[in-house]
Amino acid sequence: MSTHLFLDFDGTISNGDIGDELFRTFGSFEPVHSQLIAGDFSVAEYYRQSVALLRSDCTPEAIVEFCDGQSLDAGFAPLVDWCASVDIAVTVVSDGFDAYISPLLKKSGLRDQLKVICNVLEWNDEKFTPSFPGASESCTCFCASCKRNAVINRIGDQDIAIYVGDGRSDACAVEYADVVFAKSSLAAECTRKGIPHHPYRTLSEVRIILQEKVGKGALRTRRQAQLARKRAFEAE
Ligand SMILES: [Mg+2]
Ligand SMILES: [Zn+2]
Repeated sequence: MSTHLFLDFDGTISNGDIGDELFRTFGSFEPVHSQLIAGDFSVAEYYRQSVALLRSDCTPEAIVEFCDGQSLDAGFAPLVDWCASVDIAVTVVSDGFDAYISPLLKKSGLRDQLKVICNVLEWNDEKFTPSFPGASESCTCFCASCKRNAVINRIGDQDIAIYVGDGRSDACAVEYADVVFAKSSLAAECTRKGIPHHPYRTLSEVRIILQEKVGKGALRTRRQAQLARKRAFEAE
């Protein structure tokens, strides 16, 4: 039995939504974002349109420079370090793009300790094209990179999945996680669906609660999550 921690990136590891900020900075956030929220198109389609609207000065180098102005939750590095010390594998699951996630994780010095599952921006020396290696046909989620699949594909039958997130793209994954930490709209969604969760504000709080659970031997699988994983796996 092993334990896995899954962390959302935007608004969870990072302070604020860096993907939104990127499109605001280099392209046109609106009206496409409002159209997405209104349900006019999928996240993948939203990304195709937003990426097509990026200005020509949006290069990989410009994105790295943009990242210098962004910040991560101060509790992120201590959480990842503590996980390493107790043999908990950490995976970053994001419906954002590698183009800003990788530079920010590199800057934190933790990139090599983390597995990252996210969407990809391919650069051809002229413009970016988005691709969605984590897209799922079997999940009903609204995301371009399905976090449910990221969770169920990475853990074994008796393993424990811990999930930390804040938003819409995390909603499909939390039903399959044994221990859930939720803030913002994800907390409301968990309450609505009756999924037990720890409300949190910072990753330091997440680490303190997890340290306590591990110390007491109270980190356990959740029956409903185990059953949901088994069902999803069989349907795949
Ligand atoms: Mg988020
Ligand atoms: Zn999904």
